[in-house]
Amino acid sequence: MENNSFMVEVAGSKRKMIDGMMMCVEIADLPTIEAVPVVHGNLIKRSPYTSQCSVCGHVTTESDANFCPNCGADMRKGGN
Ligand SMILES: [Zn+2]
Repeated sequence: MENNSFMVEVAGSKRKMIDGMMMCVEIADLPTIEAVPVVHGNLIKRSPYTSQCSVCGHVTTESDANFCPNCGADMRKGGN
């Protein structure tokens, strides 16, 4: 009888371990967030008051914007 209850306890702890491993696998299977590469572009002067994004063609009145308000392209010049 005592031997029998011992067996049940072992089986129970084994199942707990398996459940824990399955949880670990599920967490590892979560998709990783991919880093979006920075798109570099420049503002093309279209008129004295408007500039156009060279990446998406969005026209903005912010001639010195650091980023395109539409596509987010990096408009900052490299270096100085
Ligand atoms: Zn753009």
